[in-house]
Amino acid sequence: MDLLTFIRDIPDFPKPGIIFKDITPLLNNPEAFKAAIDQLASRYAGKRIDKIVGIEARGFIFAGALAYRLGTGMVPVRKKGKLPYKTLSETYELEYGTDTMEVHEDAIKPGDHVLVLDDLIATGGTLAATCRLVEKLGGSIVEVAILIELSFLNGRAKVKEYPYFTLLTV
Ligand code: AMP
Repeated sequence: MDLLTFIRDIPDFPKPGIIFKDITPLLNNPEAFKAAIDQLASRYAGKRIDKIVGIEARGFIFAGALAYRLGTGMVPVRKKGKLPYKTLSETYELEYGTDTMEVHEDAIKPGDHVLVLDDLIATGGTLAATCRLVEKLGGSIVEVAILIELSFLNGRAKVKEYPYFTLLTV
């Protein structure tokens, strides 16, 4: 099954010049969604993973399903101001301005083996900030996993110190 056929390109969303990769057709199709989770599950089955970190918002969908499937905990990393308990935060540069990601300070214990998962890597800034949060809490990153890599942006260079896996590359 070619999962790329379930990713829809939306030109000029959310602003001119961006081609948005819409994953909702993949989520909408039972076989495609199952195949995506199954491929990730078969890669990580049998490895020690204590927590799967999912990045707001579409990363939550995959991290939740995979955590259930593998029997691990799930940790949400969210944009600033959304998490209710005490948080750690990491700020990173955007093309214009900065963005901040947060995690609950008790979400990962020192020595936890952590898989970091998001739907898409563009510049890599979001994933790199998330990895710094995991490491600040003492987690050990097993791998950074992505559904779709936009290879022309070379975002994987920002997370090159970690094992890296992408299901799809465009
Ligand atoms: P970045 O920090 O540049 O790697 O951006 C990654 C985050 O922005 C991910 O959580 C993606 O869901 C979202 N994102 C960035 N570019 C796109 C795109 N072209 N299509 C869909 N989502 C995107």
